[in-house]
Amino acid sequence: MIQISDTAAQAIADHARRTYPDECVGLLLGTLSPPTADATNGLETGVSMQIRAVYPVENRWEGQITLADSDDPTSRRDRFYLDPRDYLRADRAASQQGLDVIGCYHSHPDSPATPSERDRVGAQGVGSGTQFAFLIQSVYATAAADLRGWFLRDNGARFAETALAVTPTPDA
Ligand SMILES: [Zn+2]
Repeated sequence: MIQISDTAAQAIADHARRTYPDECVGLLLGTLSPPTADATNGLETGVSMQIRAVYPVENRWEGQITLADSDDPTSRRDRFYLDPRDYLRADRAASQQGLDVIGCYHSHPDSPATPSERDRVGAQGVGSGTQFAFLIQSVYATAAADLRGWFLRDNGARFAETALAVTPTPDA
């Protein structure tokens, strides 16, 4: 289960609209709750994640991951690249707020919020399991659409969707 504050969810939607028709990308800052009693039985839902803020970064895709010769190496309309240096900056920003980097997000211009094969390949080494979330924001020309949450499972073999709840942002 992933919880995301409404301000963080709104920030993702805004970022996706700004970069449309290119994909946007950023990191998710928040906290992980310890597993509940149920998790001691091996239930994967034991850890819950609270996303409190987002850290938008630049989509630095320049053909880093090519799946086919026909790939356009310059288009950012269906791909993104998360620069490790941006990840480190986000990590520092998270620490200053008492948070951790617990996932990343990107947008899918003119397409559903489901991971692509390119996403799965690109996610290898970024984070896996239920302690690192991948959020995808579907966005169309006029408005942001679905925001959905995914975990990379089975050693990176597949994405599994997880429940995503938008919660009111607590007063500071
Ligand atoms: Zn994608």
